[in-house]
Amino acid sequence: MSLDNISENIDSIKDRIKKAALRSDRDPNSITLIAVSKLNPHESVEEAVRHGQYEFGENWVKELLEKEDAVNSYLESSLPECRDKIKWHFIGHLQTNKVKNLIGKTVMIHSVDSYKLASFIDNESKKKDTVTDILLEINIGDEESKYGIKPDEAVPFVNSLKELKNIRIRGLMTVAPICEDPESNRPYFKKMRELFVDIKSKNNDNICMDVLSMGMTLDFEVAIEEGATHVRVGTGIFGARDYGLKI
Ligand SMILES: *Cc1c(COP(=O)(O)O)cnc(C)c1O
Repeated sequence: MSLDNISENIDSIKDRIKKAALRSDRDPNSITLIAVSKLNPHESVEEAVRHGQYEFGENWVKELLEKEDAVNSYLESSLPECRDKIKWHFIGHLQTNKVKNLIGKTVMIHSVDSYKLASFIDNESKKKDTVTDILLEINIGDEESKYGIKPDEAVPFVNSLKELKNIRIRGLMTVAPICEDPESNRPYFKKMRELFVDIKSKNNDNICMDVLSMGMTLDFEVAIEEGATHVRVGTGIFGARDYGLKI
């Protein structure tokens, strides 16, 4: 594990975010950088916090809960003023049997892609007397291998969630196809933005659309140019991940 480059990397990603925002006439402060810390140790997160990064993304419930605990104890003893600034985003595929442990531990669940999952989140949130912010995951490239709702099923899906009062639909998320040239994802990001505007115009009680979560290490600048409000950057901050640790 090396903490050496984390601060530098954050600075460089933030600089690129700012430039992409200005290129497209957007306020750089309207874009949130989520540092994706999956498969990286809590020490890496702590290093990022010391450098002023407060939003993190995780893909697995157990890993999120363990890291959140470790980081919280570190902050309580060493940086109490940062304790309440930390936000954990859940960005991975979520199994319904894991929902219970996650509610209250995450600021937003980015990966809701079925009625069953949404109703589990709603139900657990009701039990805990809270409302959980969610994003709908869209499989914008219509890829076999990807999770997410097909673009043309998104509007009916939103309508099917109408009665769930303990979720709040804050927007959409996508993992665009892997590509060598980020430009090739531009049409997908554009399509996401159109879908976002479509859904935003609905007046269902549980909709409050202000988040468009798209763009990763290889394509976040193009995503920002096309309207992303949240970019999820892992490798660009923490370096290559060791998947061997997981599987
Ligand atoms: C891992 C992951 C990321 C970060 O990917 P990088 O290419 O390392 O920036 C972003 N979003 C999701 C959903 C992920 O699973």
